[in-house]
Amino acid sequence: CGIVGIVGKEPVAERLVDALRRLEYRGYDSAGVATIDNGVLARRRAEGKLFNLEKKLAENPLPGTIGIAHTRWATHGVPNETNAHPHFVDGVAVVHNGIIENFSELKEELIGEGVTFETQTDTEVVGQLIARSLRNGMGRREAMQAMLKQVTGAYALAVIFADDPSTIMAARSGPPLAIGHGRGEMYLGSDAIALAPFTNEITYLVDGDWAILGRDGAFIFDHDGNSVERPRQISQSAA
Ligand code: GLU
Repeated sequence: CGIVGIVGKEPVAERLVDALRRLEYRGYDSAGVATIDNGVLARRRAEGKLFNLEKKLAENPLPGTIGIAHTRWATHGVPNETNAHPHFVDGVAVVHNGIIENFSELKEELIGEGVTFETQTDTEVVGQLIARSLRNGMGRREAMQAMLKQVTGAYALAVIFADDPSTIMAARSGPPLAIGHGRGEMYLGSDAIALAPFTNEITYLVDGDWAILGRDGAFIFDHDGNSVERPRQISQSAA
């Protein structure tokens, strides 16, 4: 399973799927990609191999210079198209590797407030929590931070917002997550190998970190929201 993201200046959908292919060795049962174009969040998802996702993209291309993509290894909810990531909640798109341990309590709480869930996954609570905070008037950064305080478990996460086509938010607790530095583009990936076609300049998030990526760089925070510096390294992964 794997995660990739690009906030850039060229179309991203094909490049995201190419990067996912470099994570295929980890195994997966479904895959998906979401982009934002002209303020519109759109996605393609498919059960099975990346070939199925590519077929959908060929028939129905996804424009946009920002996007996130995912290969899923289902832990909660059968591996079908509905449960495939990215999950959408009110203009928030989420991909996740890992397990949200307290998802059922959170889901019950949200259902009690009248929220309806679209999938059977643990992941959907992430999008629902962010969306609830945004409805309650929080800013995007605050809403991301609040969600990270509410969930427990193992996660690598990437989030994009329909009304912010220049930012990817990411978080790590457990599964690795790497930020790639480009020229006027920034990248996110489960490992440096996924990003090797784009860049070899990598910053690894430390457990508990989260980050805001823009075209020109990334800001990294610890679990309490304090700014932290993480080293930029030259990765040896061959493109
Ligand atoms: N727990 C999530 C799900 O079942 C993510 C699984 C993964 O790591 O791909 O959808």
